[in-house]
Amino acid sequence: MSETMSPPIHLPDPTRPPRPTPGCDVCDALDRQRAQAEKRQHYRRATTCEMEIRRHPRHKAQP
Ligand SMILES: [Zn+2]
Repeated sequence: MSETMSPPIHLPDPTRPPRPTPGCDVCDALDRQRAQAEKRQHYRRATTCEMEIRRHPRHKAQP
C-alpha cells in the first residue's frame, strides 16, 4: 500500500490579481475586463485578462 499522490494544495497566490500599471490604458482596460469577468464568474476569461496584464509589464514611459 502506498500513497501515490497527495491532493493539490491551493495556496493563495500573492501575485494575483496582477496590478495594472498606473497610467497604462491597456492595463487599465484589462483590469476592468478582469473584474467584470470575475463578477460574472467567467473565470477563464478573467484568467486570460490576468495573463495579458502580466505579459504587459514593459512600458516605455516609466518615470
Ligand atoms: Zn500596460
